Amino acid sequence: MDLRKTIREIENFPKPGINFKDITTLMKDGDAFRYTIDEFIKALKDKNVDVIVGPEARGFLMGTPVAYGLGVGFVPVRKPGKLPAEVESYEYGLEYGSDTLEIHKDAIKPGQRVAIVDDLLATGGTMEAAAKLIENLGGEVVSMQFLIELEFLEGRDKLTKYEVNSLIKY
Ligand code: 5GP
Repeated sequence: MDLRKTIREIENFPKPGINFKDITTLMKDGDAFRYTIDEFIKALKDKNVDVIVGPEARGFLMGTPVAYGLGVGFVPVRKPGKLPAEVESYEYGLEYGSDTLEIHKDAIKPGQRVAIVDDLLATGGTMEAAAKLIENLGGEVVSMQFLIELEFLEGRDKLTKYEVNSLIKY
């Protein structure tokens, strides 16, 4: 299936110069959404994954159906102040300033095999932070799965330690 046709591109969102890939148009197409989730499940089914991690917010949308399909748990990675119990935090640098992501400290058990699922790989900062959080809790990141990869931003170069797979490349 040509998923690319179902993704809407919005010029200058959320800032001038950014061509935003809108996945809501893929998600409202039942065939495209099911095909996407099935592709993720196919890529992960033989990897003995214990847990799927999804970063806020579109990682929740992509990650939870994959966890359901594999019959494993789902763990959210969130922006600061959103998770109610004790958290592990990781601060990472952006072009201007920094950002922080959090995970519940008891969400991953040492030795668990974790796959991260998100809608889009851009600079790789989000994924690098999510992987650090998982590793700080003793988990092993066995795969990173994306719907979209913006190859020109070279996010993959930050993630050379990991298996990185994307369904569509721009
Ligand atoms: P990175 O940390 O790799 O630079 O950015 C990836 C994160 O930003 C992902 O969690 C993704 O949801 C979000 N993101 C950045 N650009 C886009 C875009 O064009 N479309 C969508 N849907 N998400 C984006």
